[in-house]
Amino acid sequence: MSDRVCIGRCNASQRRRTEEYTRNLAAWQTEMTAWANTTNDDCGPEPVCPIEPTLRWTAGTPIWCLEDSAAIRASLLDLDQQMALRLMNADGYGSISLEERVSSSPEPNSPSPAHDQLDDLVRWLRGWQTDYWKSQGLTVPPYRGESAPALMAVVSLLSAQLDGILAHPEYAEDFGVGVLWWHNQISAAAKTRPRRISKQLRCPQCRLATLSQIEGEDRIECRNRDCGASRGGPMVMTVDEYMALVEAATPARKEQAVALAAQRTPKPHIDYGQLSGRA
Ligand SMILES: [Zn+2]
Ligand SMILES: [Zn+2]
Repeated sequence: MSDRVCIGRCNASQRRRTEEYTRNLAAWQTEMTAWANTTNDDCGPEPVCPIEPTLRWTAGTPIWCLEDSAAIRASLLDLDQQMALRLMNADGYGSISLEERVSSSPEPNSPSPAHDQLDDLVRWLRGWQTDYWKSQGLTVPPYRGESAPALMAVVSLLSAQLDGILAHPEYAEDFGVGVLWWHNQISAAAKTRPRRISKQLRCPQCRLATLSQIEGEDRIECRNRDCGASRGGPMVMTVDEYMALVEAATPARKEQAVALAAQRTPKPHIDYGQLSGRA
């Protein structure tokens, strides 16, 4: 048992009650000073000193308690599952495997916030891995790719060293808090399925009315699974590319506009010089 108090959720109510007591104590001291300085007889009763709460703190072993360490481990190991759900919901392709989806996503700049979040998470975990491995004199294994398999790989390496990391005075707190934070973010995002909006134009590749866009994403894709079977997969384009297609698909409207413009009688030229008498 260490004499350090666990920094985790187990002591949340103890921390809240300590803060409350500290606030009440400061308020009481102010009241006492005012009460003591009152010279007339009408100063009321002496303010009552707040009672210090008796608190049972859970100790860290040495930094996080066993329960909080277990919660961090569970969150770390669940990251790739939650990320898989998140990617699946964001892309709307329930039955396509994660690896396929990730390897077919455009590199380096994916227009999908879910893929960006995956890359950020992998980078964040690798940063910890590099630091911790170096601190232990271990050789940092080479990194490959920024995708779902990369996430699984870094999670499994870190979980093998987790006991050491969570006991390390420099890494334990920030890593533990970070893992819990990431897990919250991703599982919350995985639960909210964004709206898919159908687009009016037909898919330029398969000619079906199957183009759609996930709300808020700069990506319009064809939902016909047979689309582009011989060309490496369904049509994917940015909103700008789609707008260019919309523009090109309305020549009739353009011709109409040109014809109308031709019919318009030009306005007579106004000579402001003559009107003002300065000519
Ligand atoms: Zn704890
Ligand atoms: Zn298509």
